[in-house]
Amino acid sequence: MGKIKKSNILKILDKYDKDNITIATLGSHTSLHILKGAKEEGFKTAIICEKGRETPYQRFNVADEYIIVNEFKDIVNEEIQQQLRDINAIVIPHGSFVAYAGLKNIEDKFNVPIFGNRDVLRWESEREKERQLLVEGNIRIPYKYNSPEDIDRPVMVKFPGARGGRGYFVASSPTEFKNKIHIMKERGWLEDSDIDKAHIEEYVSGCNYCIHYFYSALEDKVEIMGMDTRYESSIDGFVRMPAKDQLDINLTPSYVVTGNHPAVIRESLLPQVFEIGDKLVESAKKLVSPGLNGPFCMQTLVNDNLEVICFEISARTDGGTNTFMNGSPYSYLTHGKPMSMGRRISLEIKNAIEKKELEKIIT
Ligand code: ADP
Repeated sequence: MGKIKKSNILKILDKYDKDNITIATLGSHTSLHILKGAKEEGFKTAIICEKGRETPYQRFNVADEYIIVNEFKDIVNEEIQQQLRDINAIVIPHGSFVAYAGLKNIEDKFNVPIFGNRDVLRWESEREKERQLLVEGNIRIPYKYNSPEDIDRPVMVKFPGARGGRGYFVASSPTEFKNKIHIMKERGWLEDSDIDKAHIEEYVSGCNYCIHYFYSALEDKVEIMGMDTRYESSIDGFVRMPAKDQLDINLTPSYVVTGNHPAVIRESLLPQVFEIGDKLVESAKKLVSPGLNGPFCMQTLVNDNLEVICFEISARTDGGTNTFMNGSPYSYLTHGKPMSMGRRISLEIKNAIEKKELEKIIT
């Protein structure tokens, strides 16, 4: 638990002019639809933009106000925080905001109201905590191996930190594990200190669906907002090569996300999709109150037994929400009009202001 208490934030929020709220975020990741959606719901918008990166925000004209910083990490500087409070800003966290501001700074130093639960951000970034949320929710996850000696079928080996899958590999025996570690070390992709931290899990042979949910704390309801699959380098380029050539050139693929495709899932799988979303919301309420208020994502693989298996979660808006800036088939079913994740966030804030329940969705 960080030093910033919800009560401090509520005091700041108390002084805000609620008729003049600005929706602000860091210019990266999913900021285009976050700000566009805020405008659609009638809010003023501000972007905290790194010098030299203004172009997309100007060309798409999503920001009323620009707060220019030399480096993204300056967002936690006291004077920037003051500028944000001066414009009654509610900050929407996303993947780059967490990465650049730094978790510890968000927990201890960033005294600006943010949408959602700031304490849950740590739970998605530490693999063991993330696992705890899924296990508590009784959600199907890849089987975990405690030692490389136990490897008895294909496994995926991962290492700490968001490294875009660099150094991750597939193995199917203890010997193959040792050989691949050796190759990765020679390549400089792994250090000795990484080896003990290897996370070994069942390789799920299946198709990837990243499912974007929104949990409304105001309505106590989980919505499916959209789905995407990842377009990852080098694996997705690699598979265009005939298998024989793949063997010849002896490449080990990486999984660096370069873009996303929108996706829909078989209708018969939707009961499972709703079930795992509901379960995760319940376990997060138990383990890290007030839970997963707002957007979250479950990255899943669906095997040929039609099981939806979750291998990773995000507890804030995920990059794949960019596939439905104008709404998705699922958000259309719920809302009947174009509804991006960004717009859904602002709709929730608007509803909370009307009901005088902002304290339920801000930390
Ligand atoms: P990171 O978040 O560090 O980039 P991920 O955990 O998202 O890495 O994994 C990268 C890719 O590897 C995923 O997009 C997915 O396609 C694949 N993957 C992850 N876990 C498994 C697994 N248990 N079985 C099969 N493929 C997996």
